[in-house]
Amino acid sequence: MDSSKSSRMEQRGSYYDMPDCAGKPKFHHSGKWEALLEPEAAEAVRNLLPHDVDGDLSALCVWPDQIRHWYRYRWTSPLHFIDTPDNACNFDYSRDCHDTHGLKNMCVAGAIQNFTSQLSHYTEGTSDRRYNMTEALLFLSHFMGDIHQPMHVGFTTDEGGNTIDLRWFRHKSNLHHVWDREILLQALKDYYDKDMELLLQDIQGNITDGIWSDDVTSWQHCDDHHSCVNKYATESINIACKWGYKDVEKGDTLTDDYFLPRLPVVEKRIAQGGVRLAAILNRVFSSQETQVGDEASRSPT
Ligand SMILES: [Zn+2]
Repeated sequence: MDSSKSSRMEQRGSYYDMPDCAGKPKFHHSGKWEALLEPEAAEAVRNLLPHDVDGDLSALCVWPDQIRHWYRYRWTSPLHFIDTPDNACNFDYSRDCHDTHGLKNMCVAGAIQNFTSQLSHYTEGTSDRRYNMTEALLFLSHFMGDIHQPMHVGFTTDEGGNTIDLRWFRHKSNLHHVWDREILLQALKDYYDKDMELLLQDIQGNITDGIWSDDVTSWQHCDDHHSCVNKYATESINIACKWGYKDVEKGDTLTDDYFLPRLPVVEKRIAQGGVRLAAILNRVFSSQETQVGDEASRSPT
């Protein structure tokens, strides 16, 4: 990979990622997301995390973005996103899930399959030494956030909106960045007195007893892990077309007309990501025999 390509890839979804964990935006440290976990899953998560984070997954969710620059983890760089054909507005796993060299399964959907499958070894008690379960948990949690960020399943030419430079209110930004960060930062400023805890309480309240409470069961539902992950990616590219790219051109200035209708979309994706990550972990760590992620696990190459 030439260096310009590599730096472009690293740029995408790097420290800009807002939902560093599914359901857990960056700089959040004490959410109630774990309430969605059943006791067995909660215990497994606690056991897999280092003691000093005290079971708080969000404290380490930025880790996959930090290490993607390290030589040993460079292979993970294409796992943060999916490039789909320009303006196709759909996702096809066999067509789209590959890195720039055409290596199959190297995209965020493939990564979720892979790390879910690795984690399923945890309950088998085989302690397969090929896999590091803590890393698998951190990768899975982070990539469930990425796949729910619509512009992480974007068009190839503009690199998921990264090359669409524009202004966000009064400062320079780009379309990818708008969806990773700007919309939530604007909401924090306008409605939550810059307190992420309040924003997350709102999202949590809407999951348990609000506008999404009737939807949670359908979000959690999954008969076939592979199809479910493909569905999450399809939802994202559909939203990217309907809300992300719509009426936006390079050089535009985006303000309330863009921000206001899209904030509920961003909040819903954070909620869906969190609910679905919890559902996957509940299935993976259940003591009952489950088949989650039937694809062969891959080791780092
Ligand atoms: Zn990422």
